[in-house]
This record gives sequence, structure tokens and C-alpha cells, in this order.
Amino acid sequence: MNRYITAALSAALLTALTSCAADTAPPTASERDVFAMDTFMTMKAYGDGADKALEAAEARIHELEDELSVTKSGSDLARINSSGGEAVAVSDDAAELIKAGVSYFDETSGALDISVYPVLAEWGFTTGEYRIPDEGTISRLLAKVNAGAVTVEGSSVRIPEGSMIDLGALAKGYTGDEIMAIFRENGVKSAMVSLGGNVQALGSKPDGSDWRVGIKDPFTPDTNMCVVSISDRAVVTSGNYERYFTGDDGKNYWHIIDPADGHPADNGLVSVTVIGESGLRCDALSTALFVMGTDRAQTYLRDHTDVDAVLVTEDGTLLYTGGISGKLDNTGGRTAEVIARD
Ligand code: ADP
Ligand code: MG
Repeated sequence: MNRYITAALSAALLTALTSCAADTAPPTASERDVFAMDTFMTMKAYGDGADKALEAAEARIHELEDELSVTKSGSDLARINSSGGEAVAVSDDAAELIKAGVSYFDETSGALDISVYPVLAEWGFTTGEYRIPDEGTISRLLAKVNAGAVTVEGSSVRIPEGSMIDLGALAKGYTGDEIMAIFRENGVKSAMVSLGGNVQALGSKPDGSDWRVGIKDPFTPDTNMCVVSISDRAVVTSGNYERYFTGDDGKNYWHIIDPADGHPADNGLVSVTVIGESGLRCDALSTALFVMGTDRAQTYLRDHTDVDAVLVTEDGTLLYTGGISGKLDNTGGRTAEVIARD
């Protein structure tokens, strides 16, 4: 939403609230909008420490962007990618996230691969100069794609010469976790942030009820397909409709790359939402399950019951884990099936 409209709405809301009797007035929210990491971010926090918490959260967002951006010169990632195979000393944040990237590479059997970046760039997703690369170029670039060859020792990171990494699949999730920690440290007990497609809530709403988070319909992204009710959870979506271009062949190509063939992942799913306690884990898995596709994603979810998920298949069916049965409102009325977990 346009920030000025948001501000106007907040002002209207404030007027409405202050006209209530003092003893029945719900606590007012402190809000802040930030543009960072290539996306609009909105934060809303309640309670005495809220203003201070939002100030600190904004500073932290910019700090993380300066460290983790792949395009900012001097960032940890830029220095790693121009290291020519030498070890590079990085911030604790970068070291932790790269380590996480390597372990998700293992855990997802290579579906999440932070070293797929040169392929992503060849398709034009890093510059907006989109093109369909030829197969020879893709295979040449894929030869260097292998997050298993990235090493992290303390604060020292080394990637093979000719490789490049990016944390686009993970950084916003990690940022969400960091913001929640800052809110808690400042005594905030109820808050909600939206970092692009990543929503994360601290506690429940001030009145004790769950936060209701809409999940976009991938076929008509300006409308919601369903709503999930959550407290103390992250809700992270990866879809084929967020960043894509239409090729000369009339087909759409999107920014989540299948490291198995170097093409936009097209394995039966058009949207994946992961719901869990850790923003980082939800972010990693939303991208990875999208790459895995309908069958492998369901198998993965059967084996990993700490998260819930809502998958949308290319034929428009909604598949969801039973853990959120009572929390999922299928407002769009799509055919919905539970993913069995026994
Ligand atoms: P969004 O950025 O829209 O929230 P994702 O969390 O799914 O979406 O992350 C997509 C980003 O992750 C891409 O823009 C790219 O930087 C990176 N990426 C694309 N494919 C992969 C992959 N297979 N493994 C790891 N990172 C990827
Ligand atoms: Mg992700």
C-alpha cells in the first residue's frame, strides 16, 4: 500500500480510537514503513517499548542489508563473490546465514542452493534485462553451482573460484527473526511485520486473538486465496507470480531456479507458503519446496512435522498440512486436500 495512504488510514484509525472511552480503548499501534532489500516492509508494534523497538528494528534492517546484499559494493556478499577462491572475513550475520544455506542444501537434497546465483543472473533476474539463455551457457554455469563446496569456519567464508552466492532465499526470513528478537528485548509483546512476502507475528493481537494473514491467490495475486490465523509464527510465501518475465515464446519465467537444470523451477507448484516458528526456516523451505515440486514437497513435509505448509498446484488445488486445519480459512473456495502425515 502506498505509504501516504497507510499514514492517512492510521491517522483515521487513531481518531476513531481516541474517541473511545479511555478504559475500553485498545492499545494503539506504532507503525513504520521501510524500503529495503528491494521490497516494501511494514512493521506494527504495540506497547510502551514499541517506538524504541521500531527505531532499533529499522536500523537493524539497514545493517543487515549492508552486510547481506549481493549488489551493494563492499557488502560481505560482494566481497565473497569477488574473492577469487580466497577466504574472506565476514560479519556474524553473513557467516550464520551462509552456514544455514549450506545445511539447507543438504537438508533439501540440493533444492536450496545459494550458489545458483550466476544462473539467476544469466536469466537477467539480477538486472531486469531478461533473456532466455542457451542450454550451453546454462550447463557451463551449472558446473560451478554447488553449495556443498562453500565452507564457513568461524567468521571466514570460502567459495570456489568462479562461483558466486546470494542469500535472496533466506535473508528476509532471518531479518524477521532478528526483528522479533529486538521487539522482545524492548518489552513488546504484540507485533506484526510484513517484509515483502514474509509475514511474521510476535504474540497474538493485543486483544488476545490470532493475527489473520491472507495468502495471495497465485492465479489472481491481487486477491487472497485463503487466510491463516496465527500467533508467534512466520508465514512465508514463494510463488511464480512475484518476479517473472514473459519470453518471446510467450511463456513465463520466474526467479526461483531449479539447480537440477538451471531453469525456473517448474515442478507442478505455483505457490508455496510455509508456516512455522523460525522466519529463516520458513523462508528457506518456501523456496526449497517450490523447487522440489508437488511430490517431493509432500514427502518432505511428511518427514518434517515442525512446520506447516499450504501448497498450490498448477491446476489450482490447495494442499495443506493437517496442523493448520482449524486455522485455515479457505476464503477462495479452491479444492483443498490435506497432506497426510502419519
Ligand atoms: P522472494 O524473494 O520473492 O521472497 P524467495 O524467498 O523464494 O522469494 O527467494 C527467491 C530468491 O532466492 C531469488 O530471487 C534468488 O535470489 C534466490 N534463489 C532462486 N532460486 C534459488 C534456489 N534454488 N536456491 C537458493 N536460492 C535461490
Ligand atoms: Mg525463501
